[in-house]
Amino acid sequence: MRPPLVREIKASSALGKSGMKELDYAFNPYSGCLHSCDYCYAMDFTKTGVDIPWGEYVYVRTNIVELLRRDAVSKRKGIVGVSTITDPYQAVEGKYRITRESIPILCSNGFHVSIQTKSPLILRDLDILTRYRRNLDAGFSIATPYADRAIQMERRAPSPRARIKALERLSSEGIKTWIFLGPIFPGFNDTDGEFSEIAEIALSTGSRIIYDSYNHFRGSDTALKKNGHVPYLFSREQYAEAERKLLMICNRKGVRCNSEAEDWLVERSSMNRPLF
Ligand code: SF4
Repeated sequence: MRPPLVREIKASSALGKSGMKELDYAFNPYSGCLHSCDYCYAMDFTKTGVDIPWGEYVYVRTNIVELLRRDAVSKRKGIVGVSTITDPYQAVEGKYRITRESIPILCSNGFHVSIQTKSPLILRDLDILTRYRRNLDAGFSIATPYADRAIQMERRAPSPRARIKALERLSSEGIKTWIFLGPIFPGFNDTDGEFSEIAEIALSTGSRIIYDSYNHFRGSDTALKKNGHVPYLFSREQYAEAERKLLMICNRKGVRCNSEAEDWLVERSSMNRPLF
């Protein structure tokens, strides 16, 4: 396997419009993601100009902190997704520390930061996260708690166990946490055992679960097919059944679980009410 391409580039802006209704802005310090998930929709929104497969390159926006300092002062306050088309704590963050530098800039300027990652590297920044815990929340993407399944679709991402341990640590530090359970592929990661285990983790960490189906995009459809996951491109009926099962399990355990993030948005806004 050839080593991944890491290239430094200049960004033209820092806070972009988010395509997600629960977020006002997207902040993506990197373009590309070395976690290399087959189902990743970000590959369809990332232009490289070079013919390199998804998961084998990452561009580092080396000037983005400078741009963010300006945006954080001039832009209307709101909720910032860190990140929406990359993982802000993928391995290169260990060297570049862009996410680390950016969180205090956003929080101290009245923004609410919503972090989403698959990486325990987030624990490096516990000092910052605890200092600004009133202004942020942190979510871990966990499609399955089982390592042997995760490795099939998330070839270079940290193991689910490592993510769960990091989630537990953040929660124990009083940071508001959540789990993104997705994408759900009926027949792949929708067993009772998986859903129950995720619900237990949510219960013990006080996390909410946000779940989603797989969203079809050309790049990720191709990657899934190429890697033999064709049977999991399921029908609506199959997904509805998986959803029903998940909600029933969460309901039984008293875990908050929803597909849409609307009430999550209200909750975050009210946590941060003086700012809005
Ligand atoms: S961690 Fe997220 S952004 Fe990175 S490849 Fe996986 S799904 Fe895509």
